[in-house]
Amino acid sequence: MSKISIDFKTGLIKKNKPIYAGIDLGTTNSLIATIQNSNAEILNDQYGKPLFIPSIIYFKDDFSVLHGDLAKPYLESDPESTIYSIKRLMGKSYKDLETKKSNIGYRLHEDSTENLIKINIRGKYFTPIELSSFILSNLKLQAEQSLNTVLENVVITVPAYFNDNQRQATRDAGKLAGLNVLRIINEPTAACLAYGIGLDRQESKIIAVYDLGGGTFDISILRVEDGVFDVLSTRGDTNLGGDDFDQAIIQYWSDKYKDGIQFNLNKIRLLAEEAKKIVNEGEIFSSRILSSVIELSPDEFKLISDKLIEKTIECCKLAILDSKLTIDQIDSVILVGGSTRLKLVREAIKNFFNRTPDTSLNPDYAIATGAAIQADILAGNRKDLLLLDINPLSLGIETLGGIMDVIIPRNSKIPIQLAREYTTSKDGQINLKISVYQGERDLVENNRKLGEFILKNIPPMPAGIPKIQVRFSINADGILNVKAKELRTNIEQEVLIKSQFSLSPEIIAKMLSESIQFANQDMEIKSLIDTVNEANALLLATEKFINENTEHLSKKEILILNEHKLNLQKSIQTSIKNDIQISMDALNSFSTPIAHRIMDMNIQAALRNQEILKSITEEINQDGQKIK
Ligand code: ADP
Ligand code: MG
Repeated sequence: MSKISIDFKTGLIKKNKPIYAGIDLGTTNSLIATIQNSNAEILNDQYGKPLFIPSIIYFKDDFSVLHGDLAKPYLESDPESTIYSIKRLMGKSYKDLETKKSNIGYRLHEDSTENLIKINIRGKYFTPIELSSFILSNLKLQAEQSLNTVLENVVITVPAYFNDNQRQATRDAGKLAGLNVLRIINEPTAACLAYGIGLDRQESKIIAVYDLGGGTFDISILRVEDGVFDVLSTRGDTNLGGDDFDQAIIQYWSDKYKDGIQFNLNKIRLLAEEAKKIVNEGEIFSSRILSSVIELSPDEFKLISDKLIEKTIECCKLAILDSKLTIDQIDSVILVGGSTRLKLVREAIKNFFNRTPDTSLNPDYAIATGAAIQADILAGNRKDLLLLDINPLSLGIETLGGIMDVIIPRNSKIPIQLAREYTTSKDGQINLKISVYQGERDLVENNRKLGEFILKNIPPMPAGIPKIQVRFSINADGILNVKAKELRTNIEQEVLIKSQFSLSPEIIAKMLSESIQFANQDMEIKSLIDTVNEANALLLATEKFINENTEHLSKKEILILNEHKLNLQKSIQTSIKNDIQISMDALNSFSTPIAHRIMDMNIQAALRNQEILKSITEEINQDGQKIK
């Protein structure tokens, strides 16, 4: 592992010791830890308060932002401009979220495609990546103020169930915040590291990590062997956490004090959370609101929280079932997440797992401190821990508009094999060029080209129909093999690329430094290209729609559709992302009702045809009977 440090602002290679940190980018709270005096510790801000910050961002009129506790009050007073739980949206499309949108206070951009979700804040569109990068930038800034030095190298944690897209989105958010993301690791893995599990290469253990946070619950069963963590199974509920206990208390109070007390919703939420913490200590909670008193006893709390806790235990059962192990094969149970402070939760876990769970660490801090330990290992500061061979720079292919699509992220352990699926962008396309690149920049033109080949003889199909799998595998010698296969027809093509690790540490360092230096600029261009690609696809779809449905469209409708098309084409020319988005919205909101109308007509026609078919079948049957 090279020990070169880079100043990401200037691109200069530095000799002094860089700082390595771990970040827990949480749904409810985010925090940052580093190794200080050989201990992993949560960083304090410049006033000595732990950098444990609610993951909430408030956008003011001028798009300047407030973070954390300062942003919290706006959840009630200005919900459309106050972003919370953005982690739930990472790597998701509007379609994925449609059924859950009523729970979200801010405005999701409605879109019927598979495109990644955008959030409309005061008329400007933001992606979850951008919004997460605000949280990370704030952590970085505050950590730098407290350490009085530049923070560059971080490990960020994600839930074990995050897929490739969600992990890549988290990586991009880090990059956009000006951070060098050494690695994305699983939250339960970080929790184990915090407890010192996995640091001894000889040990082999099975660990259950129970993580109950503010809005989510995860249970993961891991196997640790030779310092390598394997997720055997993971279950959970993305809509179950401490907030639900608060909600249950609010519900209980509103039933108990039916005609009594008028509360302000924000105030009652805070009271419910406070009550939860007090009854958890075995005391009775009591508070005076105006002339009334509201109370909650530990027994009452047990009554209303049992069901929620039982739900988590059900998930544990399933996770163990999935792991194909039995409860007694589990060596330790680790608790993380603020809500595991609840004694009722601890008791239920103890009963289920038949042992006292390990709670010696602060459950709020374990994930961030574990990430800091991983960062320290990657920094090469732990002589006792050998680093496994890693892939030093990301490997990927060129996609529409010259964008680099990463297939194997940098710092992945090798040997490794990963695949992604792609499709064609033109109707009847029979050849597809696969160009392989190495590097961290978003546009391939700034990366290093390793080779290319053409997947030929794809049977002509409409754009978007072929399923082309591109598989990258790096063997233990660092040789990359790239295969492309059209899955519907099994047509296949491959290429071998040798010695991709021949780059000197200086060149690797330079490529990394440039990727951070140009991150903002790159992401802006990338997101413009993404929007233009989306707009071009919409233009094509609209044209197809008009051609295929001319007889069902009025002259006026065709005229207006064409006007919208023209407007969109003009916006594309301007290269202003927000303008293109607005023209797409205008076209979509005009065409969607028409499309629905025509779809209804087609369904009715299909139903009529079915009736006819049915009647023919019946006749035949009758005939048959007659013959009989
Ligand atoms: P996330 O992983 O979703 O970011 P956290 O792990 O920070 O969330 O957990 C936040 C939750 O922990 C909140 O619902 C909060 O009410 C709860 N919590 C914090 N302290 C306590 C406590 N002493 N007793 C019970 N619940 C607590
Ligand atoms: Mg958490």
